[in-house]
Amino acid sequence: MRQAGRIVAQTIGYLKEKIAPGITTGELDSWAGEFIRRQKGTPSFKGYQGFPANICVSINEELVHGIPGSRRIQEGDIISLDLGVIYKGYHADAASTVGVGDIGEEAERLLEATAGSLGAGIAQARPGNRVGDISSAIQKYVEERGFSVVQAYVGHGIGQKMHEPPAVPNYGPPGQGPLLQPGMTLAIEPMVNSGSPLTKVREDNWTVFTVDGRFSAHFEHTVAITAAEPEVLTAGD
Ligand code: MG
Repeated sequence: MRQAGRIVAQTIGYLKEKIAPGITTGELDSWAGEFIRRQKGTPSFKGYQGFPANICVSINEELVHGIPGSRRIQEGDIISLDLGVIYKGYHADAASTVGVGDIGEEAERLLEATAGSLGAGIAQARPGNRVGDISSAIQKYVEERGFSVVQAYVGHGIGQKMHEPPAVPNYGPPGQGPLLQPGMTLAIEPMVNSGSPLTKVREDNWTVFTVDGRFSAHFEHTVAITAAEPEVLTAGD
């Protein structure tokens, strides 16, 4: 899982360098596929429940599960990249949202709040805590900054499958849910909206977007719980 996580982090870093006005989301997808395979990984999203691409690319009001294609990235967009890798039978999964040029103050604050909430959640990923301690820390961090947590989609356990128990919601009371123990590996992934927390799915049956058309951001890491500090497997170098 460490190696899978390293490939995920390197791929996200590589794609971030490539993101610029004028390139298409489909180009990002093919570059990601080539990059992952060069590192001897397999893109785990491809074919997952019929998903047609290597990675998810979701722009602006799109939250998750955007299908890459002919759309061109523009100055002012916020781009969520979400991708998973299988290496020798083990999975890692991460996401990051990046702004293209000047995205405005509210979008900047949204990205900071979402990334910060992921950090707050990870800080609770310790033995003796419960899943609800992660959930509650994320929700508190987001709501204190005036944004809203999406409840329709949640984080998850991860290992020999991409999605394993337990569910890791980004909201809820502390002190509840499964007990965290060393050796558990979780994909923690706050999805945060500028406005309403409510979302819908497009006619392509994949792309999730905000009902009010306002921006949405997504940050995710695969995290191992250890006897000491949480180990972020998709942190990169
Ligand atoms: Mg995930």
